[in-house]
Amino acid sequence: MQIINTIVELKSALKPLSLENKSIGFVPTMGALHDGHISLIKKARIQNDIVVVSIFINPTQFLANEDLSKYPTKYESDTKICNLANVDFLFMPDINTMYKKDEILIKAPKTKGFILEGEKRPGHFDGMLQVVLKLFNIVKPTNAYFGKKDAQQLSLINQMVKNFYLDINIIECEIIREMDGLAYSSRNIYLSKTDRIEALCISKSLKLAAKLIGSGELNSTKIYDIIYNTLIMSPNIEIEYITIVNRNFQYIKNIQVKDSIILIAVKIGNTRLIDNIWI
Ligand code: AMP
Repeated sequence: MQIINTIVELKSALKPLSLENKSIGFVPTMGALHDGHISLIKKARIQNDIVVVSIFINPTQFLANEDLSKYPTKYESDTKICNLANVDFLFMPDINTMYKKDEILIKAPKTKGFILEGEKRPGHFDGMLQVVLKLFNIVKPTNAYFGKKDAQQLSLINQMVKNFYLDINIIECEIIREMDGLAYSSRNIYLSKTDRIEALCISKSLKLAAKLIGSGELNSTKIYDIIYNTLIMSPNIEIEYITIVNRNFQYIKNIQVKDSIILIAVKIGNTRLIDNIWI
């Protein structure tokens, strides 16, 4: 595996490979790699000739009140993980490599970009799309891998690929969970022992909802209620939203099987967690 920090170096390493028609699988991350990230890398390894992973904690997707400097970094173990996963190129640029002063900006679309995460974290998606577009133009991947865990992000990236006519396949990857159901997240390390136990009610509520839907209940309000009632059993959980949308992120009164997503965002102490289930 080659570790690369500059755009020029990465481009010149990748260019001859793409001229040889080698497929390039790309996994963009912010590091502190866990099994969720690893599942994306494994999929990319299986489906492509070349695998590129990027680790870049993108400042433009953090809000002023979100502590960017506290985002976990584990460069040493991340490098080991990528090596073991047979990654070909690990791209770790710094901020000055990725951004210049007074750049052209990207705006998330008014509807899909300003609900849920877009409402709770205004500007987050603008920054996310900006960095993903930059990374796409640097790596020029054949296939790019994203987790369903960040469902709204995934939907916006799919839209950006369409709107900007990018020649990239977006590969949607399943949510990976710990044994007890908690979705892997770089932020889980912030949870105390008791927070960690309380956090289990998130996946539990989604599981209960899926079971109810499986038994024929399609009414969104009823599904909402079972999730709400499960979450409030944990006293330290502050619910930000429980929402049921179709795959285009429009609110729906009735679940449409194979076209719905149930999304949850909560805060436990200072830790914000999101999770969802695709129905
Ligand atoms: P991040 O490093 O948080 O920006 O995440 C990088 C990629 O990993 C994104 O596409 C996420 O959706 C994906 N990801 C994060 N957590 C999980 C998980 N538990 N299961 C599957 N994919 C995940």
